[in-house]
Amino acid sequence: MIQNLLQTPIEYLKGVGPNRADLLKKELGIETYRDLINFFPNRYIDKTGFYKISQLQRNTSEVQIVGKIVHMKMVEQKRGKRLVADFVDDTGRIKLVWFRGQKWIRENLKLNTPYVIFGKTNWYNGVFSMPHPEMELVADYKRNLRTAMQPVYPSTEMLLKKGITNRVIMKLMQEVLQQTGLKFSESLNSDLIQELKLIAKSEALFNIHFPKSQELLAKAQFRLKFEELFFIQLQLLRKNMLHKQKIKGFNFEQIGDHFSGFYENHLPFELTNAQKRVIKEIRSDMGTGAHMNRLLQGDVGSGKTIVGLMSMLIALDNGFQACLMAPTEILSIQHYNGLAELCSDLNIEIRLLTGSTKTSERKEIHEKLENGEIDILIGTHALLEDKVQFKNLGLAIIDEQHRFGVAQRAKLWKKNQIPPHVLVMTATPIPRTLAMSLYGDLDISVIDELPPGRKPIKTVHRYDSNRLKVFRFIRDEIEKGRQVYVVYPLIQESEKMDYKDLMDGYESIAREFPEFQISIVHGQMKPADKDYEMDRFLKRETQIMVATTVIEVGVNVPNASVMIIESAERFGLSQLHQLRGRVGRGAEQSYCILMTGHKLSADSKTRLETMTATNDGFEIAEVDLKLRGPGDLMGTQQSGVLNLKIADIVKDNSILSTARHYASQLLKKDPNLELEQNRSIKNAYARLVKNKTIWNYIS
Ligand code: ADP
Ligand code: MG
Repeated sequence: MIQNLLQTPIEYLKGVGPNRADLLKKELGIETYRDLINFFPNRYIDKTGFYKISQLQRNTSEVQIVGKIVHMKMVEQKRGKRLVADFVDDTGRIKLVWFRGQKWIRENLKLNTPYVIFGKTNWYNGVFSMPHPEMELVADYKRNLRTAMQPVYPSTEMLLKKGITNRVIMKLMQEVLQQTGLKFSESLNSDLIQELKLIAKSEALFNIHFPKSQELLAKAQFRLKFEELFFIQLQLLRKNMLHKQKIKGFNFEQIGDHFSGFYENHLPFELTNAQKRVIKEIRSDMGTGAHMNRLLQGDVGSGKTIVGLMSMLIALDNGFQACLMAPTEILSIQHYNGLAELCSDLNIEIRLLTGSTKTSERKEIHEKLENGEIDILIGTHALLEDKVQFKNLGLAIIDEQHRFGVAQRAKLWKKNQIPPHVLVMTATPIPRTLAMSLYGDLDISVIDELPPGRKPIKTVHRYDSNRLKVFRFIRDEIEKGRQVYVVYPLIQESEKMDYKDLMDGYESIAREFPEFQISIVHGQMKPADKDYEMDRFLKRETQIMVATTVIEVGVNVPNASVMIIESAERFGLSQLHQLRGRVGRGAEQSYCILMTGHKLSADSKTRLETMTATNDGFEIAEVDLKLRGPGDLMGTQQSGVLNLKIADIVKDNSILSTARHYASQLLKKDPNLELEQNRSIKNAYARLVKNKTIWNYIS
């Protein structure tokens, strides 16, 4: 019954009507009683304390004071009149001001009678004033029942313009809570409620709007945040479960000559334990008959490529083709060269396909893919073109995942009747919290160990005014046989200013170091020219590489040991970390120097300090998440999951872990929510799934 009542259109609530209903719907998305109840305050005004006038500070916001009006007068001003009253307590005097409704106020307010006033104070010319205070006679104040904290709801300009103030929303909320009688059906099971000491749903909903105490508010918040995150996790985990059950994948049962031969005879180094573990995870995942949809996270330089290669060899051993897609041409070429070399004795056909592959070669590749002569195809977005058809694609690997959109990945997937296994490799560690909320339906492997012998990169922050010293350092390092990157920001490849900065930088470096050879790479160059320059640097024919962020991703020149980042304040944290990852790849001590001017924003300072303090990509990702908020990271706005009503996946990440834990336990015991004791969860879940579009990750 309560369910039906909750479905009632908001229009029928006392105090609403068609016009307001329209506004509430347009401005706040509130259509039913349930929507209104689930519209939560974003803060509370604490009216438990009183201020003395002498305690007021210029920055105190809303205050509650006890005192008396001793004098009132109308003041004429250019536009209209205002009513001004002197209000005193035993410590001082402030002014109360009204711009509207003066007549009523003058007639009704009592002089020299104790009032409790509440409102925002302004400070002007040495006097505090409070416009339009809330006022209540002390006698009444003592008599009235009240909650200590008053909710403040999110609002919009339009709502305020139409008179739907916070007070109106509060009234509606009271009304709806009274009508629904606070008999909300429980949405969790009694095990959870007992184990987590949760307060009842009705109690939580009442206290989130009208908290009886700080303590109850905290309990209400916990309960509702937990519940919100719990159901999201339930969705994600269940989706993963169903995905595994429903979507058949190729079953790679065999480990054959390609994999074993490579492992035994061609592996150029001992794998780290983390690499071994991850290869095992991938191998067993591809051998279950279910479809693999796995994210491989590993910090820059942790050795993801070889893991990717060995996974592809498993596909080949089972008679399938594999592909590796990278976000830039340079990176594809580098992958191609590296992998072709590693596999040179293995009798494997590896080809490269990018935007600049010649038409004749392109045609040949298309044919050989379709008749199965090509085993591994490496390339850029060019792989996604409709013309690219495989004979039997068994595994698709995507490197540096955050640069590809969801739609693009889906496209790769559709290249077969049965979707190929998908392995997404990312060097931008996704904070655990975010990974859990976004990728609950993805399996995750983590390489949390760097190959041995790597020295941590030393990172420093230097001001432009110290450039000469930095130049001296560059010279010393190059004379020791090292190579140096100098990177300029290029937010948009077309930005003229950035291009000019880059060219100016190039010229000043050329002037400063006439004895050295210098490469330059930027986005406006022809791919062939880029390759040529990269190649010269790789072969050590040049000592300095001046570049824009095109070199950010994946480029591997182990002899380069110094990374200078110009205008470092203009880069985001993950980008800085990526860039830094271009050095520290050899046995030598590497350095990263962050150059900036003196004027820095607070966020820039935090970024620079974080970079100089740690090399740990996961730590950096957490700071990044805090600075930028989840929506901004990796274009995650598209995911409805982040449209949370009450929880905050950054601040509430421990509740998130708890929720995930219990959701997964529940599904283990009762995968289809059939047990009687879980009926309330099932009902709530069904309602959520029905009302909201479940978020599509890959579909
Ligand atoms: P990323 O994870 O950033 O893609 P790469 O796969 O490019 O890292 O590996 C970085 C470098 O480390 C490469 O030169 C690679 O050959 C080397 N490497 C990878 N794994 C190992 C290992 N287990 N031992 C030594 N070197 C390794
Ligand atoms: Mg890589």
